[in-house]
Amino acid sequence: MIKNNHRMELESFDLKVLIVDDEKANRKILKELLQEQAKIIFAKNGEQAIEFAKKHVPDLILLDVVMPDKSGFDVIEVIKNDPVTMATSVIFITGLANCNDEEKGFALGGCDYIYKPFNTNIVSARISTHLELIQQRKMLDSIAHVDALTGISNRRKLDKVLNDELAANKRDKKQLLVAMLDVDYFKQFNDHYGHGAGDIALKKIASLFREVLNRPRDFVARYGGEEFTVILPDCNEQGASLVLNNIVKALAAKEIVHEYSDAAKYLTISVGAILVNGEQAYNVQQVLDTADRLLYQAKNNGRNQVVLECL
Ligand code: GH3
Ligand code: MG
Ligand code: MG
Repeated sequence: MIKNNHRMELESFDLKVLIVDDEKANRKILKELLQEQAKIIFAKNGEQAIEFAKKHVPDLILLDVVMPDKSGFDVIEVIKNDPVTMATSVIFITGLANCNDEEKGFALGGCDYIYKPFNTNIVSARISTHLELIQQRKMLDSIAHVDALTGISNRRKLDKVLNDELAANKRDKKQLLVAMLDVDYFKQFNDHYGHGAGDIALKKIASLFREVLNRPRDFVARYGGEEFTVILPDCNEQGASLVLNNIVKALAAKEIVHEYSDAAKYLTISVGAILVNGEQAYNVQQVLDTADRLLYQAKNNGRNQVVLECL
C-alpha cells in the first residue's frame, strides 16, 4: 500500500462510491481497496449504473467502459446530463488501453482514466487522491453555505433551497410557506446593550428556530443582519399561522430584556409571510419581495406579530 503522510484522514462512510463492472472479480478487488474509505455500491451493467447513480447520488463512480448492454461512455453521457448526478466524479477503469479512448473518456467528463489490468497500489493511490479532493470540495461547499455567527444556513443556501422548493411546490401542487422575519428595534438594542449582546441575541434567536421547526424539510436561514427567512414546504394556512406565531411567542418568552423597544419590554420579532400556491409560477425574487412587503405591514401594525397572506 502506498502511504502518503500528508493525506488527511477520510471519515469512512461519509463518501459513497459506485463501482460499475460486469466482472465480479473486478468489483471485488475494487471493493477491497476502498471499503475503509467509502460506502460501496455495485452495479453490474450500464442500465443498473444509471439507475443506482440516480438513486444513491454517489460522490464517485468507478466506471468500466466495455459492458454487454450500455458502454461506460453511454453511461457517463447520461450521468453528466442529469442535474441530480452531474456533479458526481467519474473515473474510468477499463481494458480499452489506447490514447483515443482515453481522450474520449476525458472529453465526456471523466476525471481519470485507468487501464486494466491494474496495479492495485497505483489504483488505490489515484482513487484516494480523488476521494480526498471530493471530501475537501464537500467541506468547502458546506462552509460556504453556513452563516458564521449563528451556524444556520446563509443567504446563498437560501437562494438554492427556495428555488428548489418552489419547483417542488409547483410540481407537487402543494402550498409553500415563505416568511421574512426581522428583529424589532434591534439598532436600539445594539446601541444600548452593545454589539456583543446583539450577537448573543441573534444566536439565541437562531437556536430558537431550530426548536420550533421540526419537520425534516422545514428550513431557516439568516438572510442578513437581523433578518431571517423561514421556508415550510407542504403547508396550509392554519399550520403556517401556528408555526409563525409560535416563533413570535417563543422569542417573547425568552424575555431578553429590551428597555428601548416601543413594541414590548423584551426583544421581539416581526414576520411577513406568504403561502405560495403550487398551481402558479413564482420565482425566488417575487416571493421574497412579497414577504418583505408583508413584513413592512407587520412593522407598521405595531411589530411583534405575523402578517400572513395567501398568493
Ligand atoms: P425595525 O424594528 O424597524 O426592524 O428596527 P431595527 O432597529 O431593528 O432596524 P434597522 O434596520 O434600523 O437596524 C438593524 C440593526 O441590526 C442595525 C445593526 O446594527 C444590527 N445588526 C445587523 N447585523 C448585526 C450583527 O451581525 N450583529 C449585531 N449585534 N447587530 C447587527
Ligand atoms: Mg432589518
Ligand atoms: Mg429590525
